Amino acid sequence: MDGTGSPPASAARPTPALTPLTGPSGTRERTPAGTSATGPAGPAAAAGPAADRPAIRLESLSKSYPDGTVAVGALDLDVARGEIVCLVGPSGCGKSTTLRMVNRLIEPTAGRVILDGDDVTASDPVQLRRRIGYVIQSGGLLPHRTVAENVATVPKLLGWDRTRTRARVHDLLTLVGLDPATYGGRYPAALSGGQQQRVGVARALAADPPVLLMDEPFGAVDPVVRLRLQREFRAIQAELGTTVLFVTHDLDEAVALGHRIAVLSAGGHLEQYAEPAAVLGSPATDFVADFVGGDRGVRRLAVTPLRSATLSTPATVRTGDRPSFASARLSSVGARWAVVLDPGGRATGWLSAQDLVDGAAETSLGPLARPLPGTADLDRSTLSVLSQALLVPEGWVAVLDGDRYVGVFDRAGVPDVRTDTAAAGPVRPVVPVTERPGGGAHPLRRE
Ligand code: ADP
Repeated sequence: MDGTGSPPASAARPTPALTPLTGPSGTRERTPAGTSATGPAGPAAAAGPAADRPAIRLESLSKSYPDGTVAVGALDLDVARGEIVCLVGPSGCGKSTTLRMVNRLIEPTAGRVILDGDDVTASDPVQLRRRIGYVIQSGGLLPHRTVAENVATVPKLLGWDRTRTRARVHDLLTLVGLDPATYGGRYPAALSGGQQQRVGVARALAADPPVLLMDEPFGAVDPVVRLRLQREFRAIQAELGTTVLFVTHDLDEAVALGHRIAVLSAGGHLEQYAEPAAVLGSPATDFVADFVGGDRGVRRLAVTPLRSATLSTPATVRTGDRPSFASARLSSVGARWAVVLDPGGRATGWLSAQDLVDGAAETSLGPLARPLPGTADLDRSTLSVLSQALLVPEGWVAVLDGDRYVGVFDRAGVPDVRTDTAAAGPVRPVVPVTERPGGGAHPLRRE
Protein backbone atom coordinates (compact mmCIF):
# COMPACT_ATOMS: atom_id res chain seq x y z
CA MET A 1 0.00 0.00 0.00
CA ASP A 2 1.23 3.48 -0.68
CA GLY A 3 -1.10 5.51 1.41
CA THR A 4 -3.51 5.86 -1.46
CA GLY A 5 -4.88 2.40 -1.07
CA SER A 6 -3.11 1.24 -4.18
CA PRO A 7 -0.29 -1.27 -4.03
CA PRO A 8 3.29 -0.30 -4.82
CA ALA A 9 3.85 -0.06 -8.52
CA SER A 10 6.66 -2.57 -8.56
CA ALA A 11 4.51 -5.20 -6.90
CA ALA A 12 1.29 -4.46 -8.68
CA ARG A 13 2.27 -4.00 -12.27
CA PRO A 14 1.45 -7.03 -14.34
CA THR A 15 4.99 -6.98 -15.66
CA PRO A 16 4.98 -7.52 -19.38
CA ALA A 17 7.64 -10.04 -20.23
CA LEU A 18 9.69 -7.79 -22.45
CA THR A 19 10.63 -9.24 -25.78
CA PRO A 20 14.06 -10.81 -25.40
CA LEU A 21 16.84 -8.74 -26.85
CA THR A 22 18.99 -11.12 -28.77
CA GLY A 23 19.06 -9.23 -32.03
CA PRO A 24 21.72 -7.12 -33.67
CA SER A 25 22.32 -5.15 -30.50
CA GLY A 26 23.15 -8.34 -28.63
CA THR A 27 22.51 -9.01 -24.97
CA ARG A 28 23.97 -7.22 -22.03
CA GLU A 29 24.23 -7.70 -18.36
CA ARG A 30 22.54 -5.61 -15.73
CA THR A 31 22.96 -4.94 -12.09
CA PRO A 32 19.92 -4.10 -10.00
CA ALA A 33 19.41 -0.44 -9.23
CA GLY A 34 21.40 0.88 -6.33
CA THR A 35 23.79 -1.99 -5.97
CA SER A 36 26.78 -0.37 -7.53
CA ALA A 37 28.79 2.29 -5.81
CA THR A 38 29.97 5.52 -7.23
CA GLY A 39 33.46 6.11 -6.05
CA PRO A 40 36.34 8.35 -6.81
CA ALA A 41 37.67 5.70 -9.15
CA GLY A 42 40.55 6.58 -11.43
CA PRO A 43 40.73 5.85 -15.14
CA ALA A 44 41.79 2.27 -14.34
CA ALA A 45 38.29 1.56 -13.03
CA ALA A 46 36.82 2.36 -16.42
CA ALA A 47 38.71 -0.61 -17.78
CA GLY A 48 37.99 -2.81 -14.74
CA PRO A 49 35.40 -5.57 -14.36
CA ALA A 50 32.08 -4.72 -16.00
CA ALA A 51 30.16 -4.73 -12.73
CA ASP A 52 32.50 -2.19 -11.13
CA ARG A 53 32.97 0.33 -13.83
CA PRO A 54 30.62 3.26 -14.12
CA ALA A 55 27.96 3.12 -16.80
CA ILE A 56 28.84 6.69 -17.75
CA ARG A 57 32.08 8.47 -17.00
CA LEU A 58 32.65 12.10 -17.91
CA GLU A 59 36.32 13.05 -17.82
CA SER A 60 37.18 16.74 -17.87
CA LEU A 61 34.28 17.17 -20.25
CA SER A 62 34.16 20.71 -21.62
CA LYS A 63 32.23 22.83 -24.03
CA SER A 64 33.14 26.39 -24.90
CA TYR A 65 31.80 28.51 -27.70
CA PRO A 66 33.67 30.81 -30.05
CA ASP A 67 32.23 33.86 -28.26
CA GLY A 68 34.13 32.75 -25.15
CA THR A 69 31.14 31.28 -23.27
CA VAL A 70 32.22 28.31 -21.21
CA ALA A 71 28.99 26.28 -21.09
CA VAL A 72 30.74 23.39 -19.30
CA GLY A 73 34.28 23.54 -18.02
CA ALA A 74 36.15 20.33 -17.24
CA LEU A 75 33.36 18.29 -15.63
CA ASP A 76 34.23 14.98 -14.00
CA LEU A 77 31.31 12.72 -13.13
CA ASP A 78 30.73 8.98 -12.74
CA VAL A 79 27.23 7.55 -13.06
CA ALA A 80 26.97 4.12 -11.49
CA ARG A 81 25.18 1.36 -13.34
CA GLY A 82 21.48 1.19 -12.64
CA GLU A 83 21.24 4.58 -10.96
CA ILE A 84 19.25 7.68 -11.79
CA VAL A 85 21.51 10.70 -11.52
CA CYS A 86 19.82 14.08 -11.69
CA LEU A 87 21.77 17.06 -12.98
CA VAL A 88 20.17 19.99 -11.24
CA GLY A 89 21.00 23.68 -11.15
CA PRO A 90 19.77 27.07 -12.27
CA SER A 91 18.95 27.85 -15.87
CA GLY A 92 22.01 28.24 -18.09
CA CYS A 93 24.42 26.35 -15.81
CA GLY A 94 25.23 23.76 -18.48
CA LYS A 95 22.92 20.84 -17.65
CA SER A 96 21.55 20.28 -21.15
CA THR A 97 24.94 20.87 -22.72
CA THR A 98 26.40 18.16 -20.49
CA LEU A 99 23.60 15.74 -21.37
CA ARG A 100 23.86 16.42 -25.08
CA MET A 101 27.59 15.88 -25.07
CA VAL A 102 26.96 12.32 -23.87
CA ASN A 103 25.08 11.42 -27.06
CA ARG A 104 27.10 13.90 -29.12
CA LEU A 105 24.21 16.13 -30.10
CA ILE A 106 26.78 18.69 -28.92
CA GLU A 107 30.43 18.00 -29.65
CA PRO A 108 32.69 18.51 -26.64
CA THR A 109 35.61 20.88 -27.07
CA ALA A 110 37.71 18.83 -24.63
CA GLY A 111 37.48 15.80 -22.37
CA ARG A 112 36.07 12.33 -22.81
CA VAL A 113 32.79 10.45 -22.54
CA ILE A 114 33.22 6.83 -21.55
CA LEU A 115 30.24 4.48 -21.74
CA ASP A 116 30.69 1.20 -19.92
CA GLY A 117 34.46 1.46 -20.27
CA ASP A 118 34.25 2.35 -23.95
CA ASP A 119 35.56 5.78 -25.01
CA VAL A 120 32.84 7.08 -27.31
CA THR A 121 34.14 10.62 -27.63
CA ALA A 122 35.20 9.99 -31.21
CA SER A 123 32.77 7.26 -32.24
CA ASP A 124 30.12 7.62 -34.93
CA PRO A 125 27.39 9.82 -33.37
CA VAL A 126 24.58 8.14 -35.29
CA GLN A 127 25.58 4.67 -34.08
CA LEU A 128 26.07 6.09 -30.60
CA ARG A 129 22.55 7.49 -30.44
CA ARG A 130 21.10 4.08 -31.18
CA ARG A 131 22.76 2.83 -28.01
CA ILE A 132 21.45 5.66 -25.88
CA GLY A 133 17.80 6.47 -25.22
CA TYR A 134 16.90 10.15 -25.25
CA VAL A 135 13.73 11.72 -23.91
CA ILE A 136 12.94 15.41 -24.19
CA GLN A 137 10.09 17.65 -23.11
CA SER A 138 6.74 16.81 -24.74
CA GLY A 139 8.13 13.46 -25.82
CA GLY A 140 9.63 14.83 -29.03
CA LEU A 141 7.33 12.57 -31.04
CA LEU A 142 7.08 12.63 -34.82
CA PRO A 143 3.60 14.10 -35.41
CA HIS A 144 2.94 12.35 -38.71
CA ARG A 145 3.70 8.89 -37.32
CA THR A 146 1.40 6.83 -35.14
CA VAL A 147 2.26 6.02 -31.55
CA ALA A 148 3.32 2.50 -32.56
CA GLU A 149 5.48 3.84 -35.39
CA ASN A 150 7.10 6.33 -33.06
CA VAL A 151 7.98 3.61 -30.56
CA ALA A 152 9.29 1.41 -33.38
CA THR A 153 11.73 4.07 -34.65
CA VAL A 154 14.99 2.67 -33.27
CA PRO A 155 14.13 -1.05 -33.67
CA LYS A 156 13.48 -0.29 -37.36
CA LEU A 157 16.80 1.51 -37.70
CA LEU A 158 18.44 -1.49 -36.10
CA GLY A 159 16.83 -3.75 -38.69
CA TRP A 160 14.57 -5.76 -36.41
CA ASP A 161 11.95 -7.84 -38.21
CA ARG A 162 8.27 -6.89 -38.04
CA THR A 163 7.18 -9.55 -35.60
CA ARG A 164 9.86 -8.71 -33.09
CA THR A 165 9.30 -4.97 -33.47
CA ARG A 166 5.57 -5.33 -33.05
CA ALA A 167 5.98 -7.45 -29.92
CA ARG A 168 8.39 -4.93 -28.45
CA VAL A 169 6.06 -1.99 -29.17
CA HIS A 170 3.21 -3.89 -27.54
CA ASP A 171 5.27 -4.64 -24.43
CA LEU A 172 6.56 -1.10 -24.07
CA LEU A 173 3.22 0.61 -24.47
CA THR A 174 1.88 -1.75 -21.83
CA LEU A 175 4.85 -0.97 -19.60
CA VAL A 176 4.17 2.77 -19.72
CA GLY A 177 0.47 2.25 -19.06
CA LEU A 178 -0.98 2.78 -22.54
CA ASP A 179 -3.17 0.04 -23.99
CA PRO A 180 -1.53 -0.84 -27.32
CA ALA A 181 -4.88 -1.62 -28.96
CA THR A 182 -6.29 1.77 -28.01
CA TYR A 183 -3.28 3.99 -28.48
CA GLY A 184 -0.97 2.24 -30.94
CA GLY A 185 -2.77 3.55 -34.01
CA ARG A 186 -3.32 7.09 -32.76
CA TYR A 187 -1.31 10.10 -33.80
CA PRO A 188 0.47 12.11 -31.09
CA ALA A 189 -1.92 15.05 -31.46
CA ALA A 190 -4.73 12.81 -30.18
CA LEU A 191 -2.93 12.22 -26.87
CA SER A 192 -2.73 14.28 -23.68
CA GLY A 193 0.59 15.80 -22.67
CA GLY A 194 1.13 13.07 -20.09
CA GLN A 195 0.36 10.33 -22.60
CA GLN A 196 2.76 11.83 -25.14
CA GLN A 197 5.42 11.85 -22.48
CA ARG A 198 4.80 8.17 -21.79
CA VAL A 199 5.16 7.39 -25.49
CA GLY A 200 8.42 9.36 -25.43
CA VAL A 201 9.69 7.15 -22.61
CA ALA A 202 8.52 3.97 -24.42
CA ARG A 203 10.25 5.08 -27.60
CA ALA A 204 13.49 5.81 -25.78
CA LEU A 205 13.40 2.37 -24.15
CA ALA A 206 12.50 0.52 -27.36
CA ALA A 207 15.93 -0.94 -28.08
CA ASP A 208 16.55 -1.53 -24.37
CA PRO A 209 19.38 0.97 -24.16
CA PRO A 210 21.69 0.59 -21.18
CA VAL A 211 21.73 4.36 -20.81
CA LEU A 212 18.85 6.80 -20.96
CA LEU A 213 19.27 10.57 -21.19
CA MET A 214 16.29 12.65 -20.12
CA ASP A 215 16.14 16.41 -20.56
CA GLU A 216 13.39 18.03 -18.46
CA PRO A 217 11.07 15.25 -19.71
CA PHE A 218 8.17 16.04 -17.43
CA GLY A 219 8.48 19.83 -17.57
CA ALA A 220 5.51 20.42 -19.86
CA VAL A 221 2.83 18.50 -17.96
CA ASP A 222 0.73 19.76 -15.08
CA PRO A 223 1.99 19.14 -11.54
CA VAL A 224 -0.35 16.27 -10.66
CA VAL A 225 0.42 14.34 -13.85
CA ARG A 226 4.11 15.14 -13.36
CA LEU A 227 4.12 13.52 -9.94
CA ARG A 228 2.41 10.49 -11.37
CA LEU A 229 4.86 10.22 -14.27
CA GLN A 230 7.78 10.56 -11.87
CA ARG A 231 6.47 7.77 -9.72
CA GLU A 232 5.78 5.53 -12.69
CA PHE A 233 9.14 6.26 -14.20
CA ARG A 234 10.94 5.42 -10.98
CA ALA A 235 9.13 2.07 -10.88
CA ILE A 236 9.97 1.31 -14.52
CA GLN A 237 13.60 2.25 -13.98
CA ALA A 238 13.83 0.09 -10.88
CA GLU A 239 12.46 -2.80 -12.85
CA LEU A 240 14.62 -2.39 -15.94
CA GLY A 241 17.79 -1.26 -14.16
CA THR A 242 18.51 1.31 -16.86
CA THR A 243 21.16 3.90 -16.02
CA VAL A 244 19.62 7.35 -16.31
CA LEU A 245 21.12 10.82 -16.57
CA PHE A 246 18.25 13.21 -15.95
CA VAL A 247 18.30 16.99 -16.34
CA THR A 248 15.94 19.11 -14.32
CA HIS A 249 15.92 22.60 -12.86
CA ASP A 250 13.39 21.41 -10.29
CA LEU A 251 15.04 20.34 -7.05
CA ASP A 252 11.91 18.55 -5.85
CA GLU A 253 11.93 16.44 -8.99
CA ALA A 254 15.61 15.64 -8.49
CA VAL A 255 14.96 14.67 -4.88
CA ALA A 256 11.99 12.50 -5.83
CA LEU A 257 13.75 10.68 -8.65
CA GLY A 258 17.48 10.70 -8.18
CA HIS A 259 19.53 8.04 -6.47
CA ARG A 260 22.12 10.81 -6.61
CA ILE A 261 21.98 14.48 -7.40
CA ALA A 262 24.72 16.47 -9.11
CA VAL A 263 24.25 20.16 -8.30
CA LEU A 264 25.80 22.36 -10.97
CA SER A 265 26.56 26.07 -10.97
CA ALA A 266 27.41 28.29 -13.95
CA GLY A 267 29.87 26.75 -16.38
CA GLY A 268 28.90 23.21 -15.44
CA HIS A 269 30.83 23.48 -12.18
CA LEU A 270 30.04 20.51 -9.94
CA GLU A 271 29.13 21.89 -6.52
CA GLN A 272 28.01 18.65 -4.90
CA TYR A 273 27.38 15.08 -5.97
CA ALA A 274 25.58 13.03 -3.36
CA GLU A 275 22.38 11.29 -2.37
CA PRO A 276 19.35 13.58 -2.03
CA ALA A 277 19.28 13.37 1.77
CA ALA A 278 22.93 14.41 1.93
CA VAL A 279 22.43 17.35 -0.45
CA LEU A 280 19.49 18.55 1.64
CA GLY A 281 21.01 17.72 5.00
CA SER A 282 24.61 18.77 4.43
CA PRO A 283 24.94 21.20 1.53
CA ALA A 284 28.61 21.15 0.51
CA THR A 285 28.86 24.82 -0.46
CA ASP A 286 27.04 28.11 0.06
CA PHE A 287 25.79 27.80 -3.51
CA VAL A 288 24.12 24.46 -2.73
CA ALA A 289 22.68 25.80 0.54
CA ASP A 290 21.19 28.73 -1.38
CA PHE A 291 19.94 26.49 -4.15
CA VAL A 292 18.20 24.02 -1.88
CA GLY A 293 16.67 26.97 -0.06
CA GLY A 294 15.32 27.75 3.36
CA ASP A 295 12.67 25.06 3.14
CA ARG A 296 15.17 22.25 2.82
CA GLY A 297 13.94 20.92 6.17
CA VAL A 298 10.57 20.18 4.59
CA ARG A 299 12.25 18.85 1.46
CA ARG A 300 14.29 16.56 3.63
CA LEU A 301 11.05 15.03 4.88
CA ALA A 302 10.48 13.97 1.28
CA VAL A 303 13.55 11.75 1.47
CA THR A 304 13.03 10.60 5.04
CA PRO A 305 11.31 7.21 5.00
CA LEU A 306 8.41 6.95 7.36
CA ARG A 307 10.12 4.02 9.02
CA SER A 308 12.61 6.38 10.57
CA ALA A 309 9.89 8.70 11.91
CA THR A 310 8.47 8.26 15.37
CA LEU A 311 5.18 6.43 15.21
CA SER A 312 2.72 6.39 18.06
CA THR A 313 1.02 3.24 19.21
CA PRO A 314 -2.43 4.03 20.50
CA ALA A 315 -4.49 1.44 22.35
CA THR A 316 -5.82 -1.39 20.20
CA VAL A 317 -8.99 -3.43 20.53
CA ARG A 318 -10.31 -6.40 18.56
CA THR A 319 -13.33 -6.44 16.24
CA GLY A 320 -14.79 -9.35 18.23
CA ASP A 321 -14.49 -7.60 21.62
CA ARG A 322 -17.62 -6.59 23.48
CA PRO A 323 -17.95 -2.81 24.01
CA SER A 324 -17.82 -3.20 27.79
CA PHE A 325 -14.58 -5.20 27.54
CA ALA A 326 -13.06 -2.61 25.19
CA SER A 327 -14.20 0.24 27.49
CA ALA A 328 -12.48 -1.37 30.42
CA ARG A 329 -9.33 -1.77 28.34
CA LEU A 330 -9.29 1.89 27.31
CA SER A 331 -9.88 2.97 30.93
CA SER A 332 -7.09 0.76 32.19
CA VAL A 333 -4.53 2.45 29.92
CA GLY A 334 -6.08 5.92 30.18
CA ALA A 335 -6.84 6.06 26.42
CA ARG A 336 -9.64 8.08 24.82
CA TRP A 337 -9.63 6.16 21.56
CA ALA A 338 -8.32 2.96 20.03
CA VAL A 339 -7.48 1.34 16.73
CA VAL A 340 -9.64 -1.67 15.91
CA LEU A 341 -7.80 -4.76 14.65
CA ASP A 342 -9.28 -7.84 13.03
CA PRO A 343 -8.21 -11.34 14.11
CA GLY A 344 -5.40 -11.22 11.52
CA GLY A 345 -3.90 -8.08 13.09
CA ARG A 346 -5.07 -5.80 10.27
CA ALA A 347 -6.38 -2.37 11.18
CA THR A 348 -10.03 -2.11 10.20
CA GLY A 349 -11.06 1.15 11.86
CA TRP A 350 -10.96 3.16 15.05
CA LEU A 351 -13.37 4.26 17.76
CA SER A 352 -13.54 6.65 20.68
CA ALA A 353 -14.34 5.87 24.30
CA GLN A 354 -17.65 7.68 23.78
CA ASP A 355 -18.49 5.40 20.81
CA LEU A 356 -18.16 2.47 23.20
CA VAL A 357 -20.53 4.08 25.68
CA ASP A 358 -23.04 4.92 22.95
CA GLY A 359 -22.85 1.43 21.48
CA ALA A 360 -22.81 -0.49 24.75
CA ALA A 361 -25.71 -2.66 23.53
CA GLU A 362 -23.72 -4.09 20.61
CA THR A 363 -22.20 -7.57 20.94
CA SER A 364 -18.99 -6.72 19.09
CA LEU A 365 -17.06 -3.64 17.90
CA GLY A 366 -17.59 -4.27 14.19
CA PRO A 367 -20.67 -2.04 13.87
CA LEU A 368 -19.12 0.71 16.03
CA ALA A 369 -15.79 1.13 14.27
CA ARG A 370 -15.28 4.26 12.21
CA PRO A 371 -13.29 4.05 8.96
CA LEU A 372 -9.56 4.70 9.23
CA PRO A 373 -8.75 8.27 8.18
CA GLY A 374 -6.06 6.88 5.89
CA THR A 375 -3.31 4.32 5.63
CA ALA A 376 0.34 4.62 4.65
CA ASP A 377 3.03 2.07 3.99
CA LEU A 378 6.21 2.17 6.06
CA ASP A 379 8.39 2.90 3.04
CA ARG A 380 6.53 6.03 1.98
CA SER A 381 8.21 9.36 2.50
CA THR A 382 7.43 11.16 5.72
CA LEU A 383 6.39 14.23 3.73
CA SER A 384 3.73 12.37 1.76
CA VAL A 385 2.31 10.84 4.93
CA LEU A 386 2.41 14.18 6.75
CA SER A 387 0.44 15.61 3.81
CA GLN A 388 -2.15 12.88 4.28
CA ALA A 389 -2.35 13.49 8.03
CA LEU A 390 -2.76 17.24 7.50
CA LEU A 391 -5.79 16.69 5.30
CA VAL A 392 -7.90 14.54 7.62
CA PRO A 393 -9.76 15.85 10.67
CA GLU A 394 -8.36 13.05 12.82
CA GLY A 395 -4.81 14.31 12.16
CA TRP A 396 -3.32 10.82 11.84
CA VAL A 397 -3.06 7.86 9.49
CA ALA A 398 -2.52 4.18 10.23
CA VAL A 399 0.89 2.87 9.18
CA LEU A 400 1.17 -0.56 7.62
CA ASP A 401 4.03 -2.90 6.85
CA GLY A 402 2.47 -4.83 4.02
CA ASP A 403 -0.82 -5.91 5.59
CA ARG A 404 0.35 -5.64 9.14
CA TYR A 405 -0.62 -2.64 11.26
CA VAL A 406 2.43 -1.14 12.96
CA GLY A 407 1.25 2.13 14.47
CA VAL A 408 -0.02 5.59 13.75
CA PHE A 409 1.66 8.63 12.22
CA ASP A 410 0.32 11.72 13.90
CA ARG A 411 0.82 15.16 12.37
CA ALA A 412 2.27 16.25 15.68
CA GLY A 413 4.95 13.58 15.34
CA VAL A 414 7.14 15.17 12.66
CA PRO A 415 10.61 13.68 13.12
CA ASP A 416 13.86 15.51 13.70
CA VAL A 417 15.31 15.75 10.20
CA ARG A 418 18.70 16.92 11.42
CA THR A 419 19.68 13.34 12.11
CA ASP A 420 21.20 11.65 9.09
CA THR A 421 18.73 9.44 7.29
CA ALA A 422 20.78 8.99 4.15
CA ALA A 423 21.56 5.42 5.13
CA ALA A 424 17.88 4.59 5.22
CA GLY A 425 17.85 4.38 1.45
CA PRO A 426 15.64 5.94 -1.17
CA VAL A 427 11.96 6.37 -0.53
CA ARG A 428 9.27 6.18 -3.12
CA PRO A 429 8.34 9.53 -4.59
CA VAL A 430 5.75 11.73 -2.97
CA VAL A 431 2.22 10.77 -3.93
CA PRO A 432 -0.30 13.44 -4.82
CA VAL A 433 -2.43 13.81 -1.72
CA THR A 434 -5.50 14.11 -3.90
CA GLU A 435 -5.31 10.36 -4.47
CA ARG A 436 -7.40 8.82 -1.79
CA PRO A 437 -7.70 5.23 -0.62
CA GLY A 438 -9.29 3.01 -3.22
CA GLY A 439 -8.38 5.50 -5.90
CA GLY A 440 -7.54 3.11 -8.72
CA ALA A 441 -6.09 -0.22 -9.63
CA HIS A 442 -2.61 0.52 -10.83
CA PRO A 443 -0.63 3.74 -11.19
CA LEU A 444 0.50 2.90 -14.70
CA ARG A 445 -3.07 2.59 -15.75
CA ARG A 446 -4.18 5.97 -14.52
CA GLU A 447 -4.12 9.32 -16.27
P1 ADP B 1 20.94 24.64 -18.83
O1 ADP B 1 20.55 23.37 -19.51
O2 ADP B 1 21.59 24.43 -17.52
O3 ADP B 1 19.81 25.63 -18.75
P2 ADP B 1 22.58 24.99 -21.18
O4 ADP B 1 23.42 23.78 -21.12
O5 ADP B 1 21.42 24.99 -22.14
O6 ADP B 1 22.05 25.35 -19.73
O7 ADP B 1 23.48 26.24 -21.54
C1 ADP B 1 24.71 26.49 -20.88
C2 ADP B 1 25.28 27.81 -21.31
O8 ADP B 1 25.73 27.73 -22.66
C3 ADP B 1 24.29 28.97 -21.28
O9 ADP B 1 24.90 30.07 -20.67
C4 ADP B 1 24.00 29.23 -22.74
O10 ADP B 1 23.68 30.58 -22.93
C5 ADP B 1 25.32 28.86 -23.37
N1 ADP B 1 25.20 28.55 -24.81
C6 ADP B 1 24.45 27.57 -25.35
N2 ADP B 1 24.60 27.56 -26.72
C7 ADP B 1 25.47 28.55 -27.02
C8 ADP B 1 26.05 29.05 -28.22
N3 ADP B 1 25.74 28.50 -29.41
N4 ADP B 1 26.90 30.07 -28.13
C9 ADP B 1 27.22 30.61 -26.95
N5 ADP B 1 26.73 30.19 -25.76
C10 ADP B 1 25.85 29.18 -25.79
